[in-house]
Amino acid sequence: MLTKVIEQSKIDHFTKWFERADRIVIVSHVSPDGDAVGSSLGLADFFDSQGKTVNVIVPNVFPDFLKWMPGSKDILLYDRYKDFADKLIAQADIICCLDFNALKRIDDMADAVAASPARKIMIDHHLHPEEFCKITISHPEISSTSELVFRLICRMGYFSDISLEGAECIYTGMMTDTGGFTYNSNNREIYFIISELLSKGIDKDDIYRKVYNTYSESRLRLMGYVLSNMKVYPDCHAALISLTKEEQSRFDYLKGDSEGFVNIPLSIKNVCFSCFLREDTEKPMVKISLRSVGTFPCNKVAAEFFNGGGHLNASGGEFFGTIEEAKEVFEQALQKYKPLLCSECPKSGK
Ligand code: 5GP
Ligand code: MN
Repeated sequence: MLTKVIEQSKIDHFTKWFERADRIVIVSHVSPDGDAVGSSLGLADFFDSQGKTVNVIVPNVFPDFLKWMPGSKDILLYDRYKDFADKLIAQADIICCLDFNALKRIDDMADAVAASPARKIMIDHHLHPEEFCKITISHPEISSTSELVFRLICRMGYFSDISLEGAECIYTGMMTDTGGFTYNSNNREIYFIISELLSKGIDKDDIYRKVYNTYSESRLRLMGYVLSNMKVYPDCHAALISLTKEEQSRFDYLKGDSEGFVNIPLSIKNVCFSCFLREDTEKPMVKISLRSVGTFPCNKVAAEFFNGGGHLNASGGEFFGTIEEAKEVFEQALQKYKPLLCSECPKSGK
């Protein structure tokens, strides 16, 4: 049995909306990841099974390694089909906001979503949700939005209507937001849910292969290159990797190719904080990705130094300046947080 994580009043409230709704739009965050796509498609599959008209809209393209997911071909990219998407958003009875906590996380879609008269529900697990939805289901203690989607569907009484395809999507989101169940994954109910998803017929080993082991050759060579230039700060239990625009074009970089790179330095003994700086190819900025092990709050560093945010162990931000300047800011952050990095690193001294 699962704990009743979502408040009953919210389940009842949403069920009332749901029963009356016909057109439902699901939106998720910019540069959608496995949880954004997985939770959206998992919920969409359920709505579809109940005869609703459902559309998933995301701000921009998602990585190739998620394109096998059932229903992914029907996801509407806002930056390509803005007019059509605006119409769907304006005419929706319900808008479900999945895996983001603030309107700015959906970029150019924010105005259309804010202006729509649709009833809005947030289902998310990021800290500090903004108030732009009538129903806010926000649970930072839950490791993925996909898990919350599973919990919502079950609590509404529709477990039996989750299809194999829906289960595959939910599993993918749970898996990717926990790094294949290697972090944020000690809640035993996660494994109860996986067991339920297996009962739907998912092949979890195959899903892992499709997500993590279908990269291009150039991506692997790029990884080798990036790691060969890695800088380690042993005194701060930290490491930094980076990628310039020039390097991206040299390795035929495709969006998503550096997905997961930021986690690799955490496999070094004594490193508990990792930073990846990547020059953006569209905007004049450096995208920052931060990861930590243990209780070091990398979201604090993201907020304080890089105008960003996120989770305790996975956060990010943006830096408007050169990559060299971003490195300097990172090193300033290391100096400031050195005492905490030393005291909080669970790998130090071992
Ligand atoms: P990633 O490193 O995978 O791009 O992002 C990891 C997490 O950091 C995301 O799930 C999100 O919570 C947070 N994040 C990434 N970029 C930003 C940003 O620019 N602003 C904020 N507020 N959070 C971000
Ligand atoms: Mn997520």
